[in-house]
Amino acid sequence: MPELPDVEGFRRVLAGYARRRVRGVDVLDAGVLRGVGADRLDREVRGRTLGKPWRHGKWLGARVGGATLVFHFGMTGELYEADESAERHRHDRVVLSFAGGELRYRDQRKLQGLRLVSDVDRLLADTGPDALHVSRAEFVERLGGIRRQVKPALMDQSVLAGLGNLLADEVLWRARVHPRRPCADVDLAQLHGRMRTTLRQAVATGRVPPRTSWLTGRRDEPSGSCPRCGTTLSHGRVGGRHTVWCPRCQP
Ligand SMILES: [Zn+2]
Repeated sequence: MPELPDVEGFRRVLAGYARRRVRGVDVLDAGVLRGVGADRLDREVRGRTLGKPWRHGKWLGARVGGATLVFHFGMTGELYEADESAERHRHDRVVLSFAGGELRYRDQRKLQGLRLVSDVDRLLADTGPDALHVSRAEFVERLGGIRRQVKPALMDQSVLAGLGNLLADEVLWRARVHPRRPCADVDLAQLHGRMRTTLRQAVATGRVPPRTSWLTGRRDEPSGSCPRCGTTLSHGRVGGRHTVWCPRCQP
């Protein structure tokens, strides 16, 4: 599932096409268009120059003409570049073509998709600050005021934007915090520091790396052990999501 580091990787792909003119818009499956039809998308995007892209949480956008093209990758989406002669994949849904290359939005499950919006602030009105850029003070204030378990709070995009299931587990493991602990009982300043470190390392990789020194690298093993202390990891559901933690490091 694309999380903040993956979307940051897609932003870098999109940035490679900034200030370049969109030659064509090919909608292969209009089922990924949100609030815009294939005709209007083509009319407003083709022939226009793509602006510098931005990312906020799991949202990615770039100005094009008088509007902003906004991508969300849901559970299975990705944005990649391809040579125009390269065969298209059956889950490629929208293709933007440029002189010398194509950008392809691929998404198997089509839970989210592409928007063309005039008011980005309105689109993101209910979205919290970006997890990579939120200050420690704001993080502590936002999480500190919530009477909930810490993991669901971290994953709530209206509280904090960008963390998904893998990252939330990874950050909590690094901070030695049990995912069910109430926010009020957590050292939030320390958690913020661990989150920043984890995000910076993951962003450099373009994904949450499944290294064996990370919890993420052990979570899919049936009897995976904690990379830090060797204890067999616990599995359970927290906030409705499959969760992995170390019963010794995260009491
Ligand atoms: Zn451990």
